[in-house]
Formats: sequence, structure tokens, C-alpha cells
Amino acid sequence: MTAVLPSRPARERPVGGRLIDQFEFGLDAPICLTWELTYACNLACVHCLSSSGRRDPRELSTAEAEAVIDELQRMQVFYVNVGGGEPTVRPDFWHLLDYAIGHDVGVKFSTNGIKLDKARAQQLARTDYVDVQISLDGATAEVNDAVRGTGSFATATRALSNLAEAGMRDFKVSVVVTRENAGQLDEFRALTDSYGAQLRITRFRPSGRGADVWDRLHPTQAQQRDLYQWLLANGDQVLTGDSFFHLSALGEALPGLNLCGAGRVVCLIDPVGDVYACPFAIHENFLAGNVRSEGGFQRVWQHSELFADLRNPQTGGACTKCQHFDSCRGGCMAAKFFTGLPLDGPDPECVQGYGETALAARDLALAPPKSHLDHSHSGPVRGQPTLLGMPALPPAKACDESPLAGLDLR
Ligand code: SF4
Ligand code: SF4
Repeated sequence: MTAVLPSRPARERPVGGRLIDQFEFGLDAPICLTWELTYACNLACVHCLSSSGRRDPRELSTAEAEAVIDELQRMQVFYVNVGGGEPTVRPDFWHLLDYAIGHDVGVKFSTNGIKLDKARAQQLARTDYVDVQISLDGATAEVNDAVRGTGSFATATRALSNLAEAGMRDFKVSVVVTRENAGQLDEFRALTDSYGAQLRITRFRPSGRGADVWDRLHPTQAQQRDLYQWLLANGDQVLTGDSFFHLSALGEALPGLNLCGAGRVVCLIDPVGDVYACPFAIHENFLAGNVRSEGGFQRVWQHSELFADLRNPQTGGACTKCQHFDSCRGGCMAAKFFTGLPLDGPDPECVQGYGETALAARDLALAPPKSHLDHSHSGPVRGQPTLLGMPALPPAKACDESPLAGLDLR
């Protein structure tokens, strides 16, 4: 494998010092591990980062998923972010949830709410070490459903009501900030508060189907400045992960992880067991290995050439001349990669304007890189009413109509 970042001299890990410097060199186990259990999804959101829709026939079986959990327990990974696709449409989802918790691996899972009826909400409220995030990309049905599909706002808010009614604590509303909803942040806060939940906002990256709509939906420069001010005022009440550290170039650093953690503290296990540097980087260049290979996930995490390369401190390239480099660090690797920008240059949404200059200077004859995977539904699903369950009749062709067609997990 060739280095994904321009060649940099390897450096020794510093002894002591700031936590962020230790993170740059990577840890024995990821602190933010995302596991996409399935590419199957009942929806077809226009910005889906993993281009989900149809299940992949090579999906990990129940036994293989249990083996991954056993390994995470041995590595002392305390929790895993489970997503998809829509993880709850996997028939063994609830079993795997219990299995993980029973093996000291807490679960935070993201869902569009399709399976969270009253009984499931009560079950979750009774379970320790589980956290639920309901995805919602508009504070109104009109804004949300334009992105996530007709009826998806009603499905998500029904799930939120069920969780609140069941007495679930600490559940989240998870919002991808777009040009359409950036003006609704106060409304999101009010909606989230009304369910006794917490708001989590994340950055829209041009990954998966997101690349198709990024030009139209990524926030404008003015919206980014407003978002920065909003986060300064409300950040202590809102979760953001590593989403907005590029905004720190506007002044005071925002709370959260001010570092691209890809391959250092963050990684993704996809539904077929492939391990990528980050959930937003599903591309061959960021594929480090597979949990089915000898040595499993631990060997990939601790010994892959790709992750060793990513753990070399960045040179920063053109960004090192920028006075904001210490706080912004050149922004998001995935956002640069999928917009066709060099990885050691500015972020496409650089708030100092250098990203726009870099985008304008791209060779338009060269298309930006695209993921090698696309599990999007082939039928007319986008904008259609939300399915409230999987189709009862068997599909004519496996995977075409139901994302679960032909699924045998044992
Ligand atoms: S590539 Fe972007 S999304 Fe992934 S860890 Fe780095 S900053 Fe975060
Ligand atoms: S030039 Fe680079 S370091 Fe400076 S603000 Fe832009 S992306 Fe950040």
C-alpha cells in the first residue's frame, strides 16, 4: 500500500504532554469505533454517508459479529457506535445488543426509529449501557422529509415519543447540519428539549451519496459563521464529536476533539468486516484490513500499514503557513478527499476562504474520487413514504426489493 498522505518522517511518541499529542500517535484501542451492522435500510436519504439501501450478501453472520464483540471486550473497547444502514432491520440486532452489553461493550446506536415501538422503547429504558440516537435532519417535516424521505419525520418523532414515554434517559437527536436546516438550530434545541433528549449535531461530509448533493446542501460560509457563534453560545449543551474543529479557525477553539482522529482514535468496521480509517472514508485508499483475516480487528488496528501512516503527525502542507493551523489542523481528511482536494491542503469549507480557492483551482477534467461501494436501492425509493416494516411478500430478485431478501444470518 502506498502512503495516503504525502511522505512524512516517522517520529517517536512523546512521553507525557498534551492528550491531543498522544492521540496523534494512536492508541492501543480506538476510543470511537463505529460499526455499521448492515447496508440494509428502509430509507434512501439523499446524503447517506455509506450509500446504504440494500444488504450486502457478504454481511457478517451472527456468529462472526459475536466474535467481533468478544475481541472488542478483550481489547477493552468500552463502547461501540452502531449504525448502518438501519441497524435495527437486522433480525439479530436485539440479540447482538444484549450480547455486547453482556460482554462489557456498551452500545450507542443510531436509528431512523423504524423499529422503536412502545415495547422496544420500554426494553431500552430498562437496559443499562445502551444509548440511542434518532436521526432527524429537519426540525419540521418539510425540511426533514426533503432529505430523508416522506414520512420519516413522523417515524422519528414517534420513536422519540415512545422513548420519552418509556422513561428512557440520555437519548439523543442526531442532526446533520445542511444548508436547509442550519437556520433551525434553536428549533432543534426546543424539539429535543420537549422529549427530554439531548441534541447532537454533526458536519455534513461529501461521503457516499453525500457527494452527489454536497454542492447544493453543504452550509454556506455565512451559515458556518452563524453556526460557530451558535456553538460558542450553546456548545456545552450540545454534542458535536470531532465535527466542527475546522470552525475553530474563526477564533476561540470549540469544545470537542480538535483533531482528525481517522486511524488514530477513530475507525469503522463495515457490514462485511472491512475496517476503514473513518466512517466518512469508505474508499479503497482508507481500507486497512478485514476482521475476518488472521489476527482479526486487533491486528488491523494495531499493525496495519495504513493506520501506521495516518498516525505519523501531519505536515499540514499549505495549511502550515496559516495562523489558525493549531486549532483547525487543516480540517477533515474525508471532506478534502471526496472533493478532490489534496489531503495536506485546506478543508473545502475552510472558514478563511482557502478551500474555495482550492476548489476553483481543481482540474475539472479529473473527477473527484468516489467510493467503490454503492448499496443504494435500485428501485424508485427516494422520496417515497417510509416503510413501516419490511415487505411481507418475498421479492422477485434477492436484494432488489427488500434489503433483507435472502438474509440468513446463522
Ligand atoms: S476524516 Fe473527517 S470525519 Fe473522519 S475522523 Fe477525520 S475529521 Fe473526522
Ligand atoms: S488554511 Fe488550513 S489551517 Fe487555515 S483555516 Fe483554512 S483549513 Fe484551517
